[in-house]
Amino acid sequence: MKIAVIGGGITGLTTALALLEAGCAVTIFSRDPFEKTTSYAAGAISYPYAIEDSIRMQEWYRKNDEVVYSLLDDPAAGIIWAYWKKCTLDPNFEIPEMYMKLREARVIGESECPLDYKKGVEAKLLLMHVGRYYPFLKARLDRAGGMFILRDIKNFGELEKDYDLIVNATGVYAHNFVHDEAVYPMRGQVVIIKNPGINFHFATFEGKNYFYPRIDEILIGGSAEVGEWDLTPNDALTQEILGWAAKLDPLLKNPEIINVRVGLRPMRPQVRLERDENSCAVPVIHNYGQGGAGYTVAWGCAFAARDLALGQAA
Ligand SMILES: Cc1cc2nc3c(=O)[nH]c(=O)nc-3n(C[C@H](O)[C@H](O)[C@H](O)COP(=O)(O)OP(=O)(O)OC[C@H]3O[C@@H](n4cnc5c(N)ncnc54)[C@H](O)[C@@H]3O)c2cc1C
Repeated sequence: MKIAVIGGGITGLTTALALLEAGCAVTIFSRDPFEKTTSYAAGAISYPYAIEDSIRMQEWYRKNDEVVYSLLDDPAAGIIWAYWKKCTLDPNFEIPEMYMKLREARVIGESECPLDYKKGVEAKLLLMHVGRYYPFLKARLDRAGGMFILRDIKNFGELEKDYDLIVNATGVYAHNFVHDEAVYPMRGQVVIIKNPGINFHFATFEGKNYFYPRIDEILIGGSAEVGEWDLTPNDALTQEILGWAAKLDPLLKNPEIINVRVGLRPMRPQVRLERDENSCAVPVIHNYGQGGAGYTVAWGCAFAARDLALGQAA
């Protein structure tokens, strides 16, 4: 089967790999180089944030965890353990039950929280170092004979003559590409700095702030701006993010900035993962809308998309 995948972010890439490894001939079409996608800006910690809460999502998460865990021993894959604390300023906050299902989860009190945070949860999470993980998967695509072409696709009709099936993995851009008004952006801005030797991972229940060392660099977030499409970094926000981080550790007072990244989380009340026989002359598999959890569910969604493409029960 000859398949075109529209979208070269983490969703398109993992779906392409699942299809290639099932024996299909696959070409990815991406309008943007990886450095301009949402997937490039991600913290890529394995945790289901800002995505539908459902049984199928838990299954995608479990399957993704299995794949990512199996790559831990390969240094080229860029997978590390994050010893993660998520804390709150509200001493009366009830830690949601779902956190207690994470690896080695335990509730922590004020003495174990940084800054003025009052309580939280500590757990051990998988973290994908995007700068290594994506190239690692891309090399696997190249080795298996998959093609990656930088091209803006205007509609499915451009591809229907040359392919037996099309996958739509356009992320938030499905809003325009297939006129899906249910998908909208939640803008996230992060600052990447050189790691001066810190190894604790921290996020807050209050929302936007998080701090993820990953091998040689640290990703510091961030923002969660609903409905905002602007990809230009906001300098005032960069300073705010760095100011917050500087309070966490004196080593972060004069950071060496590597870059500032902005991505648009593809928010949707439900992920769109379905087979569509009506949009053009060949079947289309839609796979987008993973919100703030694209790296957390990528392989689970990719396997489900593959099964839909091959006509197996997903
Ligand atoms: C700041 C931030 C932090 C995050 N942290 C995490 C985290 O810790 N854990 C986690 O799991 N997730 C996280 N996410 C979410 C995750 O990054 C997204 O869910 C994921 O990257 C979405 O991937 P995607 O491949 O669907 O979309 P994208 O990465 O946006 O890729 C879309 C692709 O479609 C292509 N495209 C679009 N339209 C066309 C067209 N017409 N023709 C050709 N190509 C087209 C684009 O060029 C691009 O290649 C974070 C996101 C942000 C912004």
